[in-house]
Amino acid sequence: MADPRLSRRPDAGSRINVSFEFFPPKTDEMEERLWETVTRLEPLGPRYVSVTYGAGGSTRERTARTVGRILRETSLAPAAHLTCVDATRAEADAVIRDFAAMGVTRFVALRGDPAAGVGAAYRPHPDGYTNGAELTAAIRRIGDFDVSVSAYPEKHPESADFATDIDMLKRKVDAGATRAITQFFFDNDLYERYVERVRRAGVYIPIVPGILPIHNFRQVAGFAGRCGAHVPAWVAERFAGLENDQQTHALVAAAVAAEQVLDLVERGVEEFHFYTMNRADLAFAICHLIGVRPQAAVAA
Ligand code: FAD
Repeated sequence: MADPRLSRRPDAGSRINVSFEFFPPKTDEMEERLWETVTRLEPLGPRYVSVTYGAGGSTRERTARTVGRILRETSLAPAAHLTCVDATRAEADAVIRDFAAMGVTRFVALRGDPAAGVGAAYRPHPDGYTNGAELTAAIRRIGDFDVSVSAYPEKHPESADFATDIDMLKRKVDAGATRAITQFFFDNDLYERYVERVRRAGVYIPIVPGILPIHNFRQVAGFAGRCGAHVPAWVAERFAGLENDQQTHALVAAAVAAEQVLDLVERGVEEFHFYTMNRADLAFAICHLIGVRPQAAVAA
């Protein structure tokens, strides 16, 4: 019998939206790789591309530089990530205004993690915004911007329970968030259950799955737990023994991510956010599979 997913794929692409996340490069070599990635992904016509913001504002300048270059040299709409970490309200407001002056109209508003690292106790700046909801409200006070926020299908590690966690999401929506992007996850049932919970709580903004293609399994397994995401045993099993076999690792990563995304399409998901890790290959291949193709090729 024909795979029903195949029959849905060609027209699926026309209604699927994607966005890509990058981090600001630290070295000239990383900068070069990022721009190769941006150039390769640009023709796919993402809704926006986002640029992350480091702990304690450590990459504030790099984030601004990367966002500025995207604005100047591409046709892409950049979204600037922003956190509350170690900033007074006035400082955060100034950063928002600076981005707006550059021409930025999209933000990803986050509380952020302590400068000491994920897992350390979070202490808001005494004069700062304390969470994603307060930062979202600040951004919306300054202008009519598009604001994305975070969502946690497995709940944020600091949240006592799902109700508390979803209550924060609700506060962010009330403050003006337009969409939520999830923490990465590998078990689509968890995502679906989470979306059901969110809808039952009266939250109706898009909950866009954040997809992390596994470029390095050992690294992902190392930080997943601290981020509030778990790696199912079946995913670990697929990468077992591939530590020194990069080529097979890459093929398996493509298969795992493709399987996850195609299953989400089957479940009716129409928007995806890719954590690219500044690499184009897997994100590009997965987009191809779901019918998101370079605009020129589509027109031809
Ligand atoms: P919030 O939305 O404010 O809160 C998240 C949850 O934590 C809430 O559900 C709430 O219940 C709980 N919580 C918050 N504060 C407390 C508290 N004081 N006590 C108990 N529970 C609390 N980090 C970066 O540094 N830079 C980035 O660019 C960045 N981009 C991200 C993009 C996405 C899509 C996602 C999902 C995460 C990103 N992060 C980034 C990571 C994020 O900063 C961390 O997950 C951080 O721990 C929480 O930030 P938040 O905005 O999700 O917090």
